[in-house]
Amino acid sequence: VSADEPGADWFHEEYKGVSRLGLKLRRHLHSERSDFQNIDVYETEFFGRVLTLDGLIMFTERDEFVYHEMLVHVPLLSQPAPREVLIIGGGDCGCAREVLKHPSVERVVQCDIDERVTRVCEEYFEWTARVARDPRCELLFADGIEYVGEHENRFDLVIVDSTDPIGPAVGLFHRDFYAKVRRALRPGGVVSAQSESPHWDPPLVGRIRAELSSVFPKTSAYLGHIPTYPSGTWSWSYASVDRAHDDEFDEERAAKLEATTAYYNRELQTASFALPNFVREALEGKNRFARFGPQ
Ligand code: SAM
Repeated sequence: VSADEPGADWFHEEYKGVSRLGLKLRRHLHSERSDFQNIDVYETEFFGRVLTLDGLIMFTERDEFVYHEMLVHVPLLSQPAPREVLIIGGGDCGCAREVLKHPSVERVVQCDIDERVTRVCEEYFEWTARVARDPRCELLFADGIEYVGEHENRFDLVIVDSTDPIGPAVGLFHRDFYAKVRRALRPGGVVSAQSESPHWDPPLVGRIRAELSSVFPKTSAYLGHIPTYPSGTWSWSYASVDRAHDDEFDEERAAKLEATTAYYNRELQTASFALPNFVREALEGKNRFARFGPQ
């Protein structure tokens, strides 16, 4: 949306040409094309500032906490003392911000392919520069698929905080990548990944599960509510060779963390894994919505 277009005071995210979400704009703060994608920042009337990549909402200041807290705290609180964490993608540092809340973490490596995402977010979002400067945080700008392949037996948690499976992120949803992740994990290690919309793309949710479970014997999914993501219901995946999401749970650690979170709490550590039937079906590769037209 450029300021001079009709309806320029609205930003619309279009979902596969069949649905739109509109955000009332105050200002279009930034627009550029990096080597990988279009990067825009908007000031909105109701959602604070918004980052979009190639016209798709990555997060809004109003509801980013849901996504970052659930992608990070569910896996970390399933591990007794996670020390090293790798984030693939995550250029805005929202995930890294949440990881740094865990005292046992000594190092968080963030590997985003596009340095411009981080540099733009440092200008417009209060947490990015602060987190990037944290001595425990190491920012790398490289393809996460290659980076993971260069490390073995190193990380307690790998977080895949990627864009949708298009462009450079396509490979981040494939079993070859998950096999590299498995080798990069320490014993007891976990991978958590954003795994798309069960309401609006059940086939994709099913494909991601098939890829993940072909590498990790223990794979499960959990849900959360993000008003500005397609359909408002989002899924994440939790996978491990030898750990389940409710294996170890330190109530005291959770209680301390809950004082800092706006979404995550200890009940959600298990309750978010309770899945409606249509989500269970999607994970098994079934699509009860096929009659409504192509995805
Ligand atoms: N954390 C935000 C959220 O709330 O969803 C947005 C996700 S983050 C901005 C997505 C990142 O994935 C982008 O910055 C993009 O550059 C990065 N990315 C895409 N493909 C990648 C790859 N192959 N390796 C590393 N990063 C990649």
